[in-house]
Amino acid sequence: MIPSLLPTYSRTDFAFEKGEGSWLITTDGRRVLDLGAGIAVNALGHAHPALTKALTDQAHKVWHLSNLYQIPQQQALADMLVEHTFADTCFFTNSGTEACELAVKMARKYWYDKGQPERVEIITFSGSFHGRSSAGIAAAGSEKMTKGFGPLLPGFVHLPFGDHDAIAPAITDQTAAILIEPVQGEGGIIPVPDQCLKGLRDLCDQHGILLILDEVQCGVGRTGKLFAHEWAGITPDIMMVAKGIGGGFPLGAVVATEEAASGMTAGTHGSTYGGNPLGCAVGKAVLDIVTEPAFLDDVNRKAGLLRQKLEGLVAAHPDVFTGVRGSGLMLGLTCKAANADVVQAGYAADILTVPAADNTVRLLPPLTITDDEIAEAVGRLETAALAVAGA
Ligand SMILES: *Cc1c(COP(=O)(O)O)cnc(C)c1O
Repeated sequence: MIPSLLPTYSRTDFAFEKGEGSWLITTDGRRVLDLGAGIAVNALGHAHPALTKALTDQAHKVWHLSNLYQIPQQQALADMLVEHTFADTCFFTNSGTEACELAVKMARKYWYDKGQPERVEIITFSGSFHGRSSAGIAAAGSEKMTKGFGPLLPGFVHLPFGDHDAIAPAITDQTAAILIEPVQGEGGIIPVPDQCLKGLRDLCDQHGILLILDEVQCGVGRTGKLFAHEWAGITPDIMMVAKGIGGGFPLGAVVATEEAASGMTAGTHGSTYGGNPLGCAVGKAVLDIVTEPAFLDDVNRKAGLLRQKLEGLVAAHPDVFTGVRGSGLMLGLTCKAANADVVQAGYAADILTVPAADNTVRLLPPLTITDDEIAEAVGRLETAALAVAGA
């Protein structure tokens, strides 16, 4: 008999009733160290006082307003994103995959309005993840996500990740844009080297096509910059944001240059809930904290500390791990053992990590994790590694 919850997830038995910073507490009182952060969502940990205040203050005023009206909280968040990024304009969504939908529509409308309606194709890369909507799964294109869900939204050209020479020949007079994650998340925490992001930007400029970055997982301070592409010193034309920006409240955004967004005039797109006052009040509270320069300095310092300790862990357990990769506090342990076994052994040691493709264990701690918690986390991962090695 089908469970009352559609069984699309294989869930563990953990049932959490409360969160405090980097910790989740089960209904029976176990304290579990959270290095998953709801898959990079709880950027400021659980129950951060500034976010709780922003949410509850707003909840006492007004929860929902149609986008038919002015929404000052939305305006404030948009102004902030424009101030702190390459972007000239923002549209708010409730999720990453909705941001993908709009990014695709925006790129196609751009060319349509330019009198080149045949430019509909978007080049994407193997191992990518852009959410579970019809555009999202078609963009990623993997069999795992698309099998059985055809016919797929046409217009995506899939190239092997990391094959530089394949990209230029794939650009034709039907190409609208290139879409890429600066650090692949679900794909196994695989950063695109700065040189390659620069190369992609150059290629887009040469051909006059748009660069769309999916920073849903790697954005909002996760890599130690507000957005990951800043490390490469380039800017995209369109960027997808979600996860961390809401700090746990469902919130996403598409941010874009004036030029790239030029086709999106009144009536071309909309959302009932996108940009609602609750989400935007929380999003602004998140950005108020993450855009303080000292905050990201500390993220970078802690990232160095965690990475150094993880290198030690890998060196001590070559039978379990093969390496560490990633950027900032978006790190992946590549495994020799099965990644699922490592994650499972972590559960037994009261630490949460997240499996990813390419036999990787993802570490996406709250950006507010403390030095002591980093030491504690690596100790618990050591316990997990010993359990896996001894099994
Ligand atoms: C999670 C994720 C998405 C999808 O976001 P949802 O909010 O789950 O729709 C898209 N792109 C990337 C890179 C992601 O990590």
